Amino acid sequence: MTIAAIATAEGTGGVAVVRLSGPGSLGIARAMFSRKGDMQPNVMYPGEIDGGTFRDFGLCVFFRAPKSFTGEDVVEFHCHGGREIARGILKHTFELGARPAERGEFTKRAFLNGKLSLSAAEGMADMIHARSEAEIRAGYLLLHEVLTEEGRRMQEQLTDCLAAAEADIDFPEEDLGTWSRTEIGQTVRAVEASLSELLSRYTAGRKLKEGVRVVLAGRPNAGKSSLFNALLGYDRAIVSDTAGTTRDTLEGELTVHGVRFLLIDTAGLCTGADLIEAEGVRRAEGAIRAADLILYLREKDDGVELPADTPVITVAAKCDLGRRADCDVAVSSRTGEGLDTLRELIYERGYGRENDGVFLLEARHYEALKRAREEVRSARTAIEDGLAAELYLEDLRAARRTLGEITGDTASESVINAIFEKFCVGK
Ligand code: GDP
Repeated sequence: MTIAAIATAEGTGGVAVVRLSGPGSLGIARAMFSRKGDMQPNVMYPGEIDGGTFRDFGLCVFFRAPKSFTGEDVVEFHCHGGREIARGILKHTFELGARPAERGEFTKRAFLNGKLSLSAAEGMADMIHARSEAEIRAGYLLLHEVLTEEGRRMQEQLTDCLAAAEADIDFPEEDLGTWSRTEIGQTVRAVEASLSELLSRYTAGRKLKEGVRVVLAGRPNAGKSSLFNALLGYDRAIVSDTAGTTRDTLEGELTVHGVRFLLIDTAGLCTGADLIEAEGVRRAEGAIRAADLILYLREKDDGVELPADTPVITVAAKCDLGRRADCDVAVSSRTGEGLDTLRELIYERGYGRENDGVFLLEARHYEALKRAREEVRSARTAIEDGLAAELYLEDLRAARRTLGEITGDTASESVINAIFEKFCVGK
C-alpha cells in the first residue's frame, strides 16, 4: 500500500515536502507531475505539480526500491511552503490511490525492510527531539548503528559460547576442537564486562536527555541569585540585599560545550526562618538532594551541610570585594571575573570529557542491557560453579534474545509500535 504525508513541519515556510512511499508512488508522481519524459531515480526535476484544483511550480524526485529511505519506491514533491498548497497536493495523492501515513510509518517501513535497526530509528528520534548539540551527537551515534554493532558483537560471542556448550552436551567424551569450559567462561565474562561498561554510561546519557541538574547552595545573601543571573546572562532571579528574597526554586538553562545544564537557584539554607521562607528552605534541600552537581557559595563558618555523594564546586563569590583562596574558583557576578573558569568546571564535574561520545540515552536500551547482564551473570556463576552446560545454556540463549531487543530482531510488536508512535506523521 502506498502511503503519503507532508514531511515538513506544519505551517508556512519556504518549501514544503510531500512524501510518498510504496509501489504506487511513481505512478502517482507521473499522474501529478508535468514532466513528460522518463524520471531517473535520485534526480531532482523542476516542473508543475497538480494539486487537483490548482497547480504549483516545484520539484519532484524519485528514489527506486530498495535504494531509498524506506526500501520501497519513494517520491517527494517539493512545493512552495504554504500550508494549503502542501495539503492540496497531499489530498490529490489520496485521490490517486495513496492513503494517509501513520505516525512514524515511513521509518517503520525502513525498519521492517532492514534499512535501519530499531535503536537507529530511536537515535533518529533523539536527534529530532534534541535540545542540545551533545544530544544530537548521541542520537547520531545511535543512528549510525553504534549500539546495534555492539549488541551484534556480543550476540556473536554468545553464539560461539552456545555452540561450544552444545557440542559439549552432545559429544561429552570427544575433543571436537571446540572451546574448553575455561574459554567459554572467559568469553561470557568478557560479554558481562562489555555490558557493565555500556551500562555505566547511562548516567551520562540520562543527563544529556534531561539536562544536568546544577543547584546553587549557600546561606542567604551569599550571592546565589546574582550568580544565577550572571551565568544565564539575563536577569531571571530577583536580587536583593534582604536575606531570604529567593523563596522558591528557579530554573534556567545553560549550555556548555553543547551539553545542557539546568541551573537551579534555591532559597538560602538557613534555620529560624518564617513560614514561607521555611518552605523555600525545604524545597532547597529537596533540590540539593536531587542535584547532579552543587555550586556551593561558601562563606566562612556558614555551617552548611551538603550530601556527601554529590559532586560539589566550592565558589568564593563577590571576589571584587576581596580575595579568598580556599575555594575551587573565585567569581564576581558584578565584574564577570571567574565566570568562564566556573563554566568549564561545571562541564568537567557535572558531565566530563570522558562522556563525549556517549550513546546510551534511551531507558529502553538501558533496561534491555541490564536484563542481558543479569542473564549473562547467572550463566557465568553456573560456569564458575562447575555446573553442567544444560544448566546455563538457557541463560545464554535468553541473553542473546534480550540483546536482539536493541536491534529490533527480537523486539515484540507492541514495543516496535510504541517506538514509532512517538514519531510524527511524515517521518
Ligand atoms: P542570595 O540571597 O544568595 O541569592 O544573594 P543575592 O544574589 O541576592 O545577593 C545578595 C547581595 O550581594 C546583593 O546585594 C547583591 O547585589 C550582592 N552581590 C551579589 N553578587 C555580588 C558580587 O559579585 N559582587 C558584589 N560586590 N556584590 C554582589
